Amino acid sequence: ALVVRHRMQSSGRWARAMAILREVEEKCGTPISKLRQVADAMTVEMHAGLASEGGSKLKMLISYVDNLPTGDEKGLFYALDLGGTNFRVLRVQLGGKDKSVVNQEFDEVSIPPHLMTGTSEELFDFIARALEKFVATEGEGFHPAPGRQRELGFTFSFPVRQLSISSGTLIKWTKGFNIEDAVGQDVVGELTKSMEKIGLDMRVAALVNDTIGTLAGGRYHNQDVAAAVILGTGTNAAYVERAHAIPKWHGLLPKSGEMVINMEWGNFRSSHLPLTEYDQALDVESLNPGEQIFEKIISGMYLGEIVRRVLSRMAEEADFFGDTVPPKLQIPFILRTPDMSAMHHDTSPDLRVVGGKLKDILEISNTSLKMRKVIVELCDIVATRGARLSAAGIFGILKKLGRDTVRDGEKQKSVIALDGGFCPPCCISFPIRGRRGIMRNDQSQEHIIEQ
Ligand code: BGC
Ligand code: MG
Repeated sequence: ALVVRHRMQSSGRWARAMAILREVEEKCGTPISKLRQVADAMTVEMHAGLASEGGSKLKMLISYVDNLPTGDEKGLFYALDLGGTNFRVLRVQLGGKDKSVVNQEFDEVSIPPHLMTGTSEELFDFIARALEKFVATEGEGFHPAPGRQRELGFTFSFPVRQLSISSGTLIKWTKGFNIEDAVGQDVVGELTKSMEKIGLDMRVAALVNDTIGTLAGGRYHNQDVAAAVILGTGTNAAYVERAHAIPKWHGLLPKSGEMVINMEWGNFRSSHLPLTEYDQALDVESLNPGEQIFEKIISGMYLGEIVRRVLSRMAEEADFFGDTVPPKLQIPFILRTPDMSAMHHDTSPDLRVVGGKLKDILEISNTSLKMRKVIVELCDIVATRGARLSAAGIFGILKKLGRDTVRDGEKQKSVIALDGGFCPPCCISFPIRGRRGIMRNDQSQEHIIEQ
């Protein structure tokens, strides 16, 4: 009788755990009808954001980039990339037509966490010093223009109100950065101050968002690139707009007739988004409550944390990991998205990767195969929602551009350049009028979707 009672109890627990899982699955659901609503809402918000300053949650920022690379560019270029968890310095020698990238070198430094929430001066001093060190190693194979100051492109992956192609003020921080005194400051001015302090003689020639960099990089290789999307620590998109379709732009019409727009789609929000109580709690407890809602259900900074929150509920309310709640499971952000992704992609028959991650990160051992399968399914639910919503966002852009349907006889191709460490290769596949969008991994860090 005791054995039977015990079995009933544990099957009751299991049923409760499964009920939690099924509820998450239902709330995260993204049927095509919903994706269409999200895409439509994205298109509507794009119009509103272009119409007037503050007209939408989508800032639709003017980048001052009114023409993109052709592949004929020549010379030595330096670049800085600041935005996620890593910070990169890079130099590239471009050889012009047919030769393209002749030589390139880069260095990657992880940003000490205390700098992400310290002062503006500390952060930019750190960046300037890293750049100085890197410039000092410039050797053969790189040819600076004689007698000229070296020029720098600064990729700064946060929302910036551009004042020109080479200046702009920070609107707000995202992705775990929170340096109050930098908000409202010209980030190029801040960087220049730090470079001058150490006598580093360089001029910031361009300040761009990472989406703009990805768009330009995509165009460099493929002239059909119409938009760029980042699926990394954060998420965002940029695309090429017709200048006269931007009512809020009162400047001169660029010669090209085009202007690249940084959408800041991470801040998109709509009643059509499938949000769960876990997302709501994550948002409330985040550094930026109420902001970046689309980002919080799509990007690498948050997906692992969503999974942790669900597991923690299953532990508390269904004793999923036994009688006690594993203490590590209570620590916010302990389950990082790369680890979640590794569990999601575990193809071993006994789900050994899942077992290993649970043990190493959460100090949970002795999980059954059945439990590990549940965890993989949970990872799949959360990852699939993010992938499908980002595809809906892309479809919204294509709609805005009138490129969502293939007109008879027309051979217009739309290519989307994708970058970011958490690109889910092959996850994004979306029906466009019966066709499927294909994501191709070209082995670099760039993925391209072709319609
Ligand atoms: C930022 C964007 C950036 C994106 C991807 C977001 O948090 O607001 O400016 O492009 O992350 O890095
Ligand atoms: Mg990046």
